This record gives sequence, structure tokens and C-alpha cells, in this order.
Amino acid sequence: MKKLVVFDLDGTLAESKSPVDAEMHGLLGALLGVARVAVISGGNWPQFEEQLLSNLAPEPDLKRLSLLPTCGTKFYEYDSGWKRLYAEDLTDEEKEKILLSLQLAIDQSDCGVTKTWGDRIEDRGSQITFSALGQQAPLEEKKRWDPNFAKRRRVKELLAHSIPEFSVRLGGTTSVDITKPGIDKGYGIRKLRDLLGIAIADMVFVGDALFPGGNDYPAKEAGAASIRVRDPNETKRVIETILACLDGGAPESKA
Ligand SMILES: [Mg+2]
Repeated sequence: MKKLVVFDLDGTLAESKSPVDAEMHGLLGALLGVARVAVISGGNWPQFEEQLLSNLAPEPDLKRLSLLPTCGTKFYEYDSGWKRLYAEDLTDEEKEKILLSLQLAIDQSDCGVTKTWGDRIEDRGSQITFSALGQQAPLEEKKRWDPNFAKRRRVKELLAHSIPEFSVRLGGTTSVDITKPGIDKGYGIRKLRDLLGIAIADMVFVGDALFPGGNDYPAKEAGAASIRVRDPNETKRVIETILACLDGGAPESKA
């Protein structure tokens, strides 16, 4: 019996940048009643608060939930309130170099951006994220802008030359994420192993981007049994299946 169920957030527990719906809240609450659960996202802590945390589960069960923003460079646990165990942030010098190089790459690549919605560059502590159309851009506009990743690949190529010591990834629909090398969902899986003392072989990971190049794929590469879902509705069926299997199941799942 697996000891930990790990979920991606965006596109898996909730639609992109939207809150978890009532049915999902109910299912997650039921799952927390019988199993340890973790959520790993490339998004920052405020995104967890907005999308996941309202009316999630009764207090004692929240102690079985671990939250890993920005791929596990931050780690939160519940103890009469959400407590951050650590944050591995970029230094001011590193951030300055990234921001300068990013601005240069944006200027040099012809991104075809005529209108933006909100801030385009976000400092997530351990990660700098460039959202080409701005963070509040409508989903339809975002889907139209760079469907084949060509515009963002140009930015990525320029950054590969100017800041080769950092890792550059294309995420979401319009974004480019810059971190130290090796920060991905596999990193988060290994953090869970180290902090919770649970072997990776005892974890199951559920995500919508578990294909090569997808931002969930490193979790699979790290060795977690992985279930690919199309959207949050499929995730609900997966949780129902796990609940049915755990019903009256192994005692260690309730620890
Ligand atoms: Mg996702």
C-alpha cells in the first residue's frame, strides 16, 4: 500500500489559476481522513492560498497535508495554522543578474506582444517567472499567443547564452520560469522523501503534464508511481478509486 499521494495543483486539482471546486474539496477532505497527501506546484504560496486552502478539511486532518510551492523550494505544514519549514531563495545578486538578462532577452526576441494585463515579471523567491502577456491576461488570449512554444523558445535560447548557470523552463501557456538548476517536481519528490521519511517507492503522483517535457515529468523520473490525468474531473475519479481501495485498508495509511 502506498503511503503518500502527491498531486500537481494547476490543471490537476484545479483549472488553471482557478480555485478548487466543491466536489474536489470534499474528495480531498475524505482522502486526508485516511491518507497522507502532498501538493507540489511551480506556483508560489499565494497561489496555494487562493486555489486550494479555503474550507479544505477539518483541522486534525490538515496535519496529514504537506504543501510544496515553487517545486519544493518552500515547504509548509499545518500546526494550528500553516507554518513554513524553510525557503530556499535566490540571492539578491542572482536575482539582479536574472532580471537584467531577462529584460535583454525580451527586448531582443520579437515576441509580438501588443497588449499586456498586469505585471509580466514575478519574483517568487526561488524562481523568477516571466508571463509574456501579464499575469492577469485572459485565458483565450494566452492560448492564442504561443501555442507552438516558438516565441518562448527564442527567449529561452537567448537566456541559455546570457545566464547558462540557471535553468530556464517553459511553463503554463505564456510563461518562462528561471530557477537554479535541478529545481523541478523531482526535487519536490525528494524533499518529501527527506522530510517525511517516506520512500519514493511508497508515493503515488497524480498530474496533468506527465509526458516528456511536461512540468510533472520529473516526478515520474524521480521514481514515483505516476498517474496522468487529463483534467481535474479525471483527478476526482482517481481519488475516488484510491478511497475505495483504502476503505478499511492498511493501518499505515492512517498514520
Ligand atoms: Mg499541471
